[in-house]
Amino acid sequence: MNGGAGSTPHILIVGGGGTGGALAHDLALRGARVTLVERGEFTSGTTGRHHGLLHSGARYAVNDQESAVECIEENMLLRRIAPGSFEENDGLFVGVTDEDMTYLPGFLAGCEETGIPTQVLQPDEALRLEPLLNPALKVAVRVPDATMDAMRMPLRFFATAKANGADLLSWVDVIDLELAAGVVSGARVRDLVTGRETRIGADLVVNATGPWSEQVARMAGVDVPIRPSPGVMLAVRGRLCNMVINRLHSSGDGDIVVPQRALSVIGTSSWVVEDPDDLGVPSDHVQRMIDEGSVLVPAVREAPYRSAWSAARPLIGSRDDADSGRELSRTFKTIDHAVDDGVEGFVTITGGKGTTLRGMAEVCADVVSRKLGIETACRTRDTVLLPHTAAFAA
Ligand SMILES: Cc1cc2nc3c(=O)[nH]c(=O)nc-3n(C[C@H](O)[C@H](O)[C@H](O)COP(=O)(O)OP(=O)(O)OC[C@H]3O[C@@H](n4cnc5c(N)ncnc54)[C@H](O)[C@@H]3O)c2cc1C
Repeated sequence: MNGGAGSTPHILIVGGGGTGGALAHDLALRGARVTLVERGEFTSGTTGRHHGLLHSGARYAVNDQESAVECIEENMLLRRIAPGSFEENDGLFVGVTDEDMTYLPGFLAGCEETGIPTQVLQPDEALRLEPLLNPALKVAVRVPDATMDAMRMPLRFFATAKANGADLLSWVDVIDLELAAGVVSGARVRDLVTGRETRIGADLVVNATGPWSEQVARMAGVDVPIRPSPGVMLAVRGRLCNMVINRLHSSGDGDIVVPQRALSVIGTSSWVVEDPDDLGVPSDHVQRMIDEGSVLVPAVREAPYRSAWSAARPLIGSRDDADSGRELSRTFKTIDHAVDDGVEGFVTITGGKGTTLRGMAEVCADVVSRKLGIETACRTRDTVLLPHTAAFAA
């Protein structure tokens, strides 16, 4: 075994976003020796920058039912294992045009097929719940969306992994993977605080670098078809709604308003880039958040600006696929590069949602465990997570 700890397999996870954190938690519970390296702060990539919407899956119920099922299952499960991390505020899908109304029957059927509970509300009922909704709304459908803190919720995976012995290292950049005779046996890393370079040996390396997966996979000479697909989010001052407000149509720009503490976050747009470090916040996208957001909640237009930012989705698709990224599935993929590319000791986990991190980690940890002969089954479904503050405990 590489890494020198007797017969306990050593797994190096590259990437300290929610995916890497959830995987470290899962593997630590299975008794593996885990080292995770993150080149910035934990959750400083896409994870800590998303809306904070715990998806019910309704957004995907018509066009991406695989993701819808993953979302509703994890949504229910996370409420049990991460108590206190969610505002259990539900969401409304709001129809404002005739076109939205034609979407309604398929939406309700899709939710039923994927196991997402719905309640159809007449305009007056919806306005009683959310007085700042567009008064011209035609219908609203209540679903079990919720608000979460995009950083603190996944930090609970890190906290619990750490308590179970995982070694979590921030500000450590993987600059190369060690590959010889078709086997990955560790990584060359640079400590970004001291500048020192060292190697970390491992029995298996997992690439959990989200939109950077393609770059890290290239270090092992393999191709991971990721399309980094950024989106812009806008926060305005004032809590304009208490529920998560969505537009009743197939996903589009500015069609989500998420209440976050005393702010309202409007998202998002979608385009594709070559380099996940070069996103930008195009001003026309910010304007679109205001224009489309105010179709749902008119007060968005006058609300004071707080901030705007962007983050990139790690969507799975080839460079020849769709231009906006909206057409690509939100589901996830675990790639065993021994099977796909003939490179042993290297696995990639990518795609998915902030909502489905635990489920992604379970599938990936099953693959890793099979490869390394770890027989302990997944225990994350029933393990209540430590508070996020424990992630910073000495
Ligand atoms: C605009 C937008 C809105 C979204 N809204 C929601 C939402 O409301 N709800 C929801 O459930 N999901 C949402 N998502 C999806 C969710 O944010 C992502 O699916 C999830 O955060 C991906 O996590 P990750 O760990 O795979 O990637 P990341 O969080 O990006 O983590 C990858 C990490 O790898 C690190 N890394 C990269 N290269 C190296 C290297 N060489 N060495 C060491 N570390 C490295 C990076 O620094 C980064 O921290 C949204 C996504 C976007 C883009």
